[in-house]
Amino acid sequence: MKNQRVYNFSAGPAVMPLPVLEKIQEEMLCLPGVGASVMEISHRSEAFKAILASAQANLRSLLAIPDTYEVLFLQGGSRLQFSMIPMNLLSPEQPSADYLVTGSWGKHALAEANKHGDMKCVWTGAETNFDRLPEPAKIKHTPNAAYLHYTSNETIQGVQFPEPVDAGETPLVCDVSSDFLHRPIDVSKFGLLYACAQKNAGPAGVTVVIVRKDLIDDVNEDLPGYLRYENHAAADSMMNTPPTFAIYALKLITDWIKKDMGGLAKLHELNCGQAKLLYDVLDANPEFYEGHAQPDCRSLMNVTFRLPSKELTQKFIAEAAKKELTALAGHRSVGGIRASIYNAMPTSGVECLRDFMEDFCKANA
Ligand code: PMP
Repeated sequence: MKNQRVYNFSAGPAVMPLPVLEKIQEEMLCLPGVGASVMEISHRSEAFKAILASAQANLRSLLAIPDTYEVLFLQGGSRLQFSMIPMNLLSPEQPSADYLVTGSWGKHALAEANKHGDMKCVWTGAETNFDRLPEPAKIKHTPNAAYLHYTSNETIQGVQFPEPVDAGETPLVCDVSSDFLHRPIDVSKFGLLYACAQKNAGPAGVTVVIVRKDLIDDVNEDLPGYLRYENHAAADSMMNTPPTFAIYALKLITDWIKKDMGGLAKLHELNCGQAKLLYDVLDANPEFYEGHAQPDCRSLMNVTFRLPSKELTQKFIAEAAKKELTALAGHRSVGGIRASIYNAMPTSGVECLRDFMEDFCKANA
């Protein structure tokens, strides 16, 4: 039986900040002034409404979200967004949208969207097994596309756009599930951003959608009620019972980013430094560790690499676990190793993995 926390490199649900878990523990039986747990009170109570408002306000201030955008807390994960986006943003005048496919999640998003129209895949990295991103000039924009969809960080392949894609006048829609809140971004460049929480923003259960108000008013009223963004905006994310515990945890995480971590710019610096520790080991030992992503699009959140054989990969995972470094196996569709180093991974965890990688290479190369 383990009773010590390990260094958990899970891709999601993932490590959460220790001070946030401690706060949850402290308030688990009784929210101060309320006399019950956050899980036991009405979502329409003043106490919960204050938590939801504070979670929204934290996101608005961290990301400098303009007033012309809604911040919605939904359920169904990012997968449901793959469907809600085309259902809400396509129209008889604009029945199609453009998709960049830079990895597994972009592929899933496109497949779902194709059920609602004839989407255009304007770039795919499939030919090189999703190890790179398009040069801006290689992206072919379709005139009259309702939006351009891309995935800022492909969690499985570990490729990440360093800057937002330029879509010209076309609204930019981005799946930021696995790099949400890891750095400042200019929200005004986007029509819609969405992220499931279970990487950088809390436990599974809530999905954040940040959307330009003008894109969602006037949408077909015959859509199933839950699937129409405007209904959630009108009800301030309380159209149905929202995932109250997950929203509470998101509020605590955004408090932690603001107060303990000093905001997103500081966090970005920290994330760059931590990722460099691991990429430096790959670069110093190219015969032994083969990074999956091309160097110019390496993810700051998911570091993916392969070892020379399946046997060595298994040995790496087993020996790492003995050092309390866990959840390092690559996604079942690509194999190899994936070290997810989200915001809450302490530097000591990355240093410990870096040391282990160096030792393992010396012993086995
Ligand atoms: N997009 C990305 C980039 C993801 O990493 C994930 C989850 N790993 C999803 C979408 C799907 O999210 P969910 O399981 O919450 O539907």
